[in-house]
Amino acid sequence: MSEKETKTPSNFIREIIDRDLETNKYEGRVHTRFPPEPNGYLHIGHAKSICLNFGLAADYKGLCNLRFDDTNPIKEESEYLESIQEDVRWLGFDWEDRLYYASDYFEQLYEFAVKLIKDGKAYVDDLNADEIREHRGTLTEPGKESPYRNRPVEENLDLFKRMRDGEFPDGSRVLRAKIDMASPNLNFRDPVMYRILRATHHRTGDKWCIYPMYDWAHGQSDSIEKITHSICTLEFEDHRPLYDWFLENLGIYRPQQIEFARLNITYTVMSKRKLLILVRDGHVSGWDDPRMWTISGLRRRGYTPEAIRDFADRIGVSKSNSTVDFAFLEHCLREDLNKRATRVMGVLRPLKIIIDNYPEDQVEELEAVNNPEDPSMGTRKVPFSRELYIESSDFREDPPRKFFRLAPGREVRLRYAYFITCVTVVKDEITGEIVELHCTYDPATRGGDSPDGRKVKGTIHWVSAAQAVQAEVRLYDHLFNRPDPDTVEADKDFTANLNPNSLEVVQAYVEPGLANAQPGSRYQFERQGYFCVDAVDSTAERLVFNRTVSLRDTWAKIEKSLQENQ
Ligand code: ATP
Ligand code: MG
Repeated sequence: MSEKETKTPSNFIREIIDRDLETNKYEGRVHTRFPPEPNGYLHIGHAKSICLNFGLAADYKGLCNLRFDDTNPIKEESEYLESIQEDVRWLGFDWEDRLYYASDYFEQLYEFAVKLIKDGKAYVDDLNADEIREHRGTLTEPGKESPYRNRPVEENLDLFKRMRDGEFPDGSRVLRAKIDMASPNLNFRDPVMYRILRATHHRTGDKWCIYPMYDWAHGQSDSIEKITHSICTLEFEDHRPLYDWFLENLGIYRPQQIEFARLNITYTVMSKRKLLILVRDGHVSGWDDPRMWTISGLRRRGYTPEAIRDFADRIGVSKSNSTVDFAFLEHCLREDLNKRATRVMGVLRPLKIIIDNYPEDQVEELEAVNNPEDPSMGTRKVPFSRELYIESSDFREDPPRKFFRLAPGREVRLRYAYFITCVTVVKDEITGEIVELHCTYDPATRGGDSPDGRKVKGTIHWVSAAQAVQAEVRLYDHLFNRPDPDTVEADKDFTANLNPNSLEVVQAYVEPGLANAQPGSRYQFERQGYFCVDAVDSTAERLVFNRTVSLRDTWAKIEKSLQENQ
């Protein structure tokens, strides 16, 4: 039996591993890998795969490799290699000394291909890409064999060597496995193993002008690394017979491929190709734009690795495709931030109030609780004075029913401070806009309670005008204005669903203790949400905060209505 620490509930992948351990299929080893293609930044879908592969290895006291699947020299850049490593580390995983590149195996893969040719199981085909497609057949019709299919072994060996030596133009020939052009599985219809392509590779330079296809490179790379369980997404399910065919016909070590459903989340598109379009066409500021669900975007937005790992655990793995509500990701995030984020006061849309009966030059230090969820985080002092800012939405000149915040003649509590009453409203003579409020305070209510037992219904946050620090605050909404961004009219693409209001920038005031807030640090602005100091644009002179997530928990609401409807 396995020694796994069963914290995570079982699932079909764990069941397969448990069974393999029982039968000693891989001598008790569990060795997984995360195999990104370095053609973009990682997204939350990859995070699921990372958590799964590294998580299983950790639980079963096994190993997990990081392997760059760098078989396509055209789309790959070193920027991606670096960001991928940074993201996996940030999520909390460690591949130790097992960072591999599929390109390290090019020579070995070539030798494997030669073996298949010698065994009469691969051939050089002179058909071009279009002709190969035409010969391929369809799901209902068998394919047609290429006229070059039955070349003698010697000729194939010679041509393949000359392909490698650069004697033929790009795209003029390919190496194909010789399997079955009539197979109901299209992947078996003599799949292409190598193509001729003159492109400089980030690691092998110009050494190669033939490059292996994914199906040919992947399983053999797994085999070379002695992977036990090769976990991939569902669309590779009908590639598995080919994965096995190559390994079997080479007679080499055979890992077990296992497929699970890829993660989809509402309001996002998961393909790197589409993310690249968003970046390239300037719909976002970069791969790490805080509206992006890339790992770097989520990090910059203020997500924690713990929240993402928790999310990945809780959504689990399955064999059928589904879409997770974005609100559930935010729910996991709020649970984590609620435990750890320091509470502060920040006013996003300031309205000035003047407390007429408060001494003009007086500044008091009032005590505020840093985190009611965690008393060990202690308290801090916040200055209070005659002129303050409150949230403009916390005042209504003509309050509707159930609006318990400030209004003319109404008394409310200023958090950690005093009860105040609004006395007069000062307006701009021309525009009629509210400019400031004059209020009075009750000195007996210091700390927020009235000795005479008088109750107020509203408590609002505030900052002291003279001491407050100005900050730019970026308020984000979904990048798309519909949960299924890929649903568009026939002549449009997903960018037609971009939300023009996904970013709003406000000039806010925050309590002075935040003046030295470090890039990346996270806070709860009371009554507003969780915010973090932007790691890219924030400076000592100009603080910039990102709203990570609001306090309103739409997931809790969804869950509640689900329960009520049961
Ligand atoms: P994309 O379509 O976003 O480019 P990909 O599958 O081509 O994704 P790779 O770099 O090849 O991206 O993926 C590396 C690993 O991450 C693969 O094992 C893949 O199965 C997994 N993966 C990619 N997207 C998801 C997803 N949405 N959910 C779960 N796993 C994913
Ligand atoms: Mg891929």
